Amino acid sequence: PPTTRYAVVTGGNKGIGLETVRQLAKAGVTVILTARDEKRGMEATRLLHESGPTSNVVFHQLDVRDAKSIQSLVNFIGIQFGRLDILVNNAGVTGVEVDGDALRAKNIDPEIWLAGKAVNLIQDVVKITYDTAKDCLDTNYYGLKNLTEALLPLLQRSTSGARVVNVSSLRGELRRVPNEQIRKELGDVETLTEDKIDRILQKFLHDLQQDALEVNGWQMMLPPYSISKATLNAYTRLLAKKYPNMCINCVHPGYVNTDINWRTGTMMAEEGAQGSVVLALLPEGGPTGRYFDRTQVAEF
Ligand code: NDP
Repeated sequence: PPTTRYAVVTGGNKGIGLETVRQLAKAGVTVILTARDEKRGMEATRLLHESGPTSNVVFHQLDVRDAKSIQSLVNFIGIQFGRLDILVNNAGVTGVEVDGDALRAKNIDPEIWLAGKAVNLIQDVVKITYDTAKDCLDTNYYGLKNLTEALLPLLQRSTSGARVVNVSSLRGELRRVPNEQIRKELGDVETLTEDKIDRILQKFLHDLQQDALEVNGWQMMLPPYSISKATLNAYTRLLAKKYPNMCINCVHPGYVNTDINWRTGTMMAEEGAQGSVVLALLPEGGPTGRYFDRTQVAEF
């Protein structure tokens, strides 16, 4: 019989992450459902166990912003399983404060929302501060990066060639980055480095603090979120270059009805998890260093 595969899913207590756990478990993978909040994570795991044949789901606490929490997960997997085959970096936050009721009351057309043309429409209900923006970069970019780096030794011990899935967003597509220099830097994977990415994020926070986002070409929908996803896409490409024996990809899950978009999304979480699941279960020799729109390869 084929050997068991082991997977970690971050932000597994709800939304797309929870569905990803469910679908991977159904496919026979042993899944470590992680959540930053122990209570929410254990409750989600309990409900999964109740709802079907998912005894191959175990819970472990993980806050991707917390180095100690990351190390504790690494130790747990090392001792329990000795290797990791699949990492789904799914956890994410928006980086803004929003009055969800007021936002939903606006009834914004999904097409307008997706096209990124709702910037002016949502201005009065969305608040960005330095702290919300920093938290977003620390979660969506640095948290993902730090966790991946800490798990790489275990991923390298995968006998089937590890799969890393970075859940991104169409908000991070290069064509949506108005600042031309930054768009070029992030798009040129031959000359890009992690240091360059750090400098871009520092510049973003600096401009935010100076109230200079617009003049410096950061006028995107939910700017901290968009730049965190654009940089995580770029990081995905760097990582794929460095580890050619793995399949390392990023994916836009679709516009999914979850808390992250204040329940404005049009797709169900079941469908939203499909991209992550397909990329987590890619056959050997599958694509790497690519960006997917759901299950289809798309332009970065
Ligand atoms: P949810 O808000 O339902 O889920 C987000 C998950 O991330 C929650 O489990 C949340 O935990 C977790 N999380 C947040 N911060 C941390 C942290 N520091 N450490 C660990 N976990 C954390 O949203 P979705 O399911 O929609 O989002 C999943 C991913 O999909 C995100 O990366 C998002 O950016 C991406 N995405 C979603 C789209 C959509 O339309 N829904 C579109 C494009 C991309 P908690 O419950 O404790 O807050």
